Amino acid sequence: MSPSAVEDYVALTVSAEAPAEFPDINIPEMVAWYVTPAAARPVAIDVVSAEYGFPQLTGHWPVAHLEEKSVMLVRVGSIGGAAAHALASYGVGRIVLVDPDRLLSHNVVRHVSSVKHVGRLKVDAVKQELAEAWPATHVDALPVDVIAPAHLIRPRLRDVGVVLCTADGVAARRVVSHLARRARTDAVLACVLQDGAVGEIIRLRPWADHGCLTCRREALVARGAVDPEPALDLGYGTGTAHRPMTAVGGDLHLVGQMAAKAAVATVLERKGHSDQKLPGEHAIFGLRPTLGWTPPFDLNRNGDIRWLPHSPPRPGCPTCEEP
Ligand SMILES: [Zn+2]
Repeated sequence: MSPSAVEDYVALTVSAEAPAEFPDINIPEMVAWYVTPAAARPVAIDVVSAEYGFPQLTGHWPVAHLEEKSVMLVRVGSIGGAAAHALASYGVGRIVLVDPDRLLSHNVVRHVSSVKHVGRLKVDAVKQELAEAWPATHVDALPVDVIAPAHLIRPRLRDVGVVLCTADGVAARRVVSHLARRARTDAVLACVLQDGAVGEIIRLRPWADHGCLTCRREALVARGAVDPEPALDLGYGTGTAHRPMTAVGGDLHLVGQMAAKAAVATVLERKGHSDQKLPGEHAIFGLRPTLGWTPPFDLNRNGDIRWLPHSPPRPGCPTCEEP
């Protein structure tokens, strides 16, 4: 159809040489025009590159190394949901979500998933969100607990680059510490302590001179620290009179994003990326610290970060000693 046969139409002009000839007026290479019998006016357009998505970061970020990697994420709560989105945004190729729980209305104030997902399995809600936001990431949704069906988790742990545990229960954290070491897989454990006052990330390496989660805690207790692990079983509250909410969503998301960064750094460091080395194996950071905790949890400023080294295995540890 010729333009004269219609009243209004849109035309696309390509002028590859224009920016060189007229640098001061900065004409884009492609311009769309809305043309009427009286006038033509430019229309803003968004030109999509043939290399769209993560390939655009090639040369600046190890896209190919992460694309081929899997991360298992144990628990997709307020910390885990944020960690899942962060992992995908770093370009992790496959994420295995493990959580048997459904999203409940009291979760929404702190969870990345919105109220429209209430009643759904958390793994399904986050899988759908990731499919929309990060279509290049493959997501497996396992609606199981890491404790009971360990036979489902164990074989998959050998295939992942790292397991990231954001469970707030002691049992699940210890199971992940144990199974990851047996599978010779790195683990990153993230939580908040002291009713959300302090964020904590512990990395566990399956190496002979590195201890498990229990060895780490006992080494700190031997030096006079409290063991914050048992208090984790209380969770972060549900917002009822008997179980008031403690940690706030933004802080939990920050911990999840830091944990995802530590997990990605762990994978990349193993791939030889020396710029991904972490300052230590145990990070503690102030979210809204209160005074009076014993070292190393005695952060007294919001935003303080303290990195500590690992602890060696204790003699006779059932996790650290080879069976
Ligand atoms: Zn141990």
